[in-house]
Amino acid sequence: MTFAPNIPFSTLLRPELSDLKPYVTDTGNYPIRLDANEAPASRNANIQRRLAAAAADIAWERYPDPMALELRTALANRCGAQLDEVMVGVGSDELISLLLTALAQSSSPYTPPTVLTVSPTFVMYKLSAKVRGFRVLEVPLDDTWDLAEKSLTCALETAPPNLIFIASPNNPTGNLMSRDRLERLLDAASSSVCVIDEAYIDYAPRAHMDLRKRYPNLIILRTLSKIGFAALRVGWLVGPRALLQELDKARQPYNLASVNQCLAKLVVTELASCVSELIFEVMSERDRISNEIVKLNGFAVTPSDANFVWVHTARPAKDLFEMLRSRGILVRSFHERGGRLAHQLRITVGTEEQNNKLLEVFAEAQ
Ligand SMILES: *Cc1c(COP(=O)(O)O)cnc(C)c1O
Repeated sequence: MTFAPNIPFSTLLRPELSDLKPYVTDTGNYPIRLDANEAPASRNANIQRRLAAAAADIAWERYPDPMALELRTALANRCGAQLDEVMVGVGSDELISLLLTALAQSSSPYTPPTVLTVSPTFVMYKLSAKVRGFRVLEVPLDDTWDLAEKSLTCALETAPPNLIFIASPNNPTGNLMSRDRLERLLDAASSSVCVIDEAYIDYAPRAHMDLRKRYPNLIILRTLSKIGFAALRVGWLVGPRALLQELDKARQPYNLASVNQCLAKLVVTELASCVSELIFEVMSERDRISNEIVKLNGFAVTPSDANFVWVHTARPAKDLFEMLRSRGILVRSFHERGGRLAHQLRITVGTEEQNNKLLEVFAEAQ
């Protein structure tokens, strides 16, 4: 953790920054982008029309509602929670940062505060934690990409974490973590705040919201980003009200713009059934492409509970990634990280036409 001598103000900057890389995405011009787990563009004219009409009524000269009351009420209803158990943020990313800002006390002057998570998983837990001076322990998932209980228990005992982040369904592997392993982790980590990130839960057969009754250390994270509204940057967390009251002190009062509050409310109320249709279409396409890919030679697919598929390729992932890219299809490859990830690709489910093009290239590559 040291800066090169030519970096200005290096004595003032947090040393952790010297080791980090900015979050970058490929901004090339690809006809088919299946790399970011966004939902396909909605072709439902009703959605476009209602959003445009609602945006036309915004009081642009006013600050947003700092409490986001209408949106939080709608989200609380959607999740079966109380209003004061829901907090909204600029995507779940802001809420991840907020949790890390607030829950940053270390147990002694000699140990940094600690985050426990798994690998591979969503990179923002680690990035956001490192920027704030946390030590990050990453326990590899087992060979079915599920929680490795022994290693997790061991990590819990050696370095009790302030926060545990588990995405279920997990990104990039697409599977729900098994329920009994999650429950045992929640039991074993009763003095840590455990965050279950449900970014993909709308595509999964079951959720974790009911566990809140039994586990006062549980926080659930959700977002609109993967169900068609990434542009809105709206995420929320559901957790115990006494903890949320403290977290709220670290939140920027006007974090969520009026237009985002208003449109997000519409998405989860009036437009909810249109959104469900889109989700349903994506799930049936997901199952179709999973079935087609496993019929080909040299590929396997982890059963997906999300809007993307996690494909094992016998030949190096890099080759297939480049082949798809040369055909205008961008997917996500982790080959630079090596190890077991060198043979895996994460592919977002697209429209039927896009998926057909994807399958054509796969058929050639077998
Ligand atoms: C995409 C993703 C998010 C979304 O973050 P937003 O800031 O809400 O867009 C959160 N968690 C996981 C695991 C994700 O894959």
